[in-house]
Amino acid sequence: MVKAIVGANWGDEGKGKITDMLAKESDIVIRFQGGANAGHTIINNYGKFALHTLPSGVFYDHITNVIGNGVALNIPVLFNEIKELTSRNVPMPKLLISDRAQMVMPYHILFDQYEEERLGGKSFGSTKSGIAPFYSDKYAKIGFQVSELFEEETLREKVERICEMKNVLLEHLYHKPLLNPDELFETMLEYRKMVEPYVGDVSAFLDQAIKDGKELLLEGQLGTLKDPDHGIYPMVTSSSTLAAYGAVGAGIPPYEIKKVITVVKAYSSAVGAGAFVSEIFGEEADELRRRGGDGGEYGATTGRPRRMGWFDCVASRYGCRLQGATDVAFTVLDVLGYLDEIPVCVAYEVDGEIIHDFPTTGKLEKAKPVIETLKGWKCDIRGIKKYEDLPENCRNYIEFVEEKLGYPITMISNGPGRDDIIYR
Ligand code: GDP
Repeated sequence: MVKAIVGANWGDEGKGKITDMLAKESDIVIRFQGGANAGHTIINNYGKFALHTLPSGVFYDHITNVIGNGVALNIPVLFNEIKELTSRNVPMPKLLISDRAQMVMPYHILFDQYEEERLGGKSFGSTKSGIAPFYSDKYAKIGFQVSELFEEETLREKVERICEMKNVLLEHLYHKPLLNPDELFETMLEYRKMVEPYVGDVSAFLDQAIKDGKELLLEGQLGTLKDPDHGIYPMVTSSSTLAAYGAVGAGIPPYEIKKVITVVKAYSSAVGAGAFVSEIFGEEADELRRRGGDGGEYGATTGRPRRMGWFDCVASRYGCRLQGATDVAFTVLDVLGYLDEIPVCVAYEVDGEIIHDFPTTGKLEKAKPVIETLKGWKCDIRGIKKYEDLPENCRNYIEFVEEKLGYPITMISNGPGRDDIIYR
C-alpha cells in the first residue's frame, strides 16, 4: 500500500517525526518533491538529526530510501548528509536515486542569491538553496537530469550552451563573475562519481514493489500553503507540496495512494514572507516560539526564528482538503500546556465580510482573524499514552479543531520522541 505524509500548513508541522515513526512499518520511503531548502528534525536512538535531502527512512536498515524524479537533487548536500549520518554511527542507508531526477547546479544557488540581492526589500525570503532557479530551468527545459551525466559528449555540449546563456544574465543583469564551462563540466563528472552506485529506474522499481505488496511511504516537504498552485502565491515554494504530486514526483499511478496522512500543527508557525492571518507578535509570540517544537521554533535548515501564530482553522481545513486527508496527525500539542486560555482563529474577516474558505493572496492580505478562545489545560501532557487520559480541556481543544477541520484526527503527537504519540 502507498501512504503519503504531507503537511497542511506552512511546513514544520512535525512531519519528520511522524514519518520516522511510520517508516518502521514501511519497506520504501520516497521523497517526491522539493530540495534541500527545508528539513525535517528527527530524534531517535542515534541522536538528533536534521535531514534536508535524505528520506526519513535512513535510520532503519530494512528500508530502501528513494529520491524521486520530482526532487531538486543537490548532490554535494546529499553526500554531506550521508557522511554526517555514518560519522554518527548510523549504518550506510540503502539509497536509490531516480535517473530522471534533475540536479541543482552550482549556478542555481548563485542565481538564487543574486536575485534576492537584486530584489532587495522585495525579496521572497528564499533560503538561497537554488530551488526557484532550479525549477525554473526544469520547466524551461534547460535543466540537467541525472541520466545526462552518463552521456559525456552531449553533456559537454550542453554545459557550454547553458553557460553561454547564463553568462549573459551574470554579466548584464547581476554584474557577477561568469561561469567557466570547463570547471562546470569537471564538477558534473565529480557528481557522476558520487551518484553512480545509487542511480536507477525508480518508477519501474516502485511499480514492482507495489505489485509485490510492499509498503511505500511518500514523504512530503513543507505544506499545502506553500504549494505553487494552491498556496500563498508568490510566497510559495517551487514544486507542489500536495500528496497528489506524489504520484508524479515518484512515478506511480495516482490511484495507488490509499492513505494521505496530513500533519496539522496545534498552533501556527511559518518561515519566510507572506500573509499569515493568525500571526502574533511581541512577548506573546516570543514565549510560544521559545516553548515551541523541540527547543524552540527556529528553521531546521536556516536557523531563522519562525513567525508564530494561533491555530488557524480556515488555513488548516483548506490545507487538509487540498491534500485529500484520510487521517490527520495533530502535532506539538504538548507545547500549549502553559496557556490559561488558547485563542483559535475560526474565520477571516475580509472587507467586513466573514469567510471560512481560504482566499487568494490579495484577499488573504486584507484578512483579519476572527478569534474564539478555548480553556487551556495547564499541565504537561507528555508521556500520556491514551486519549482518555488527556485532560478534559485538552480533549475539548482537539475535538473543537477536528470539528472545524472536518477530517478525522487519528494521531496526536504530545512530544518530539518516536513514542510520544496517541492513537485514536
Ligand atoms: P517537519 O518539517 O514537518 O518535519 O517539521 P520540523 O522537523 O522542522 O519541526 C518539528 C519540530 O518539532 C522538531 O524540532 C521536532 O522534534 C518537534 N516536534 C515534532 N512533534 C512534536 C511534538 O509533538 N511535540 C513537541 N514538543 N515537539 C515536536
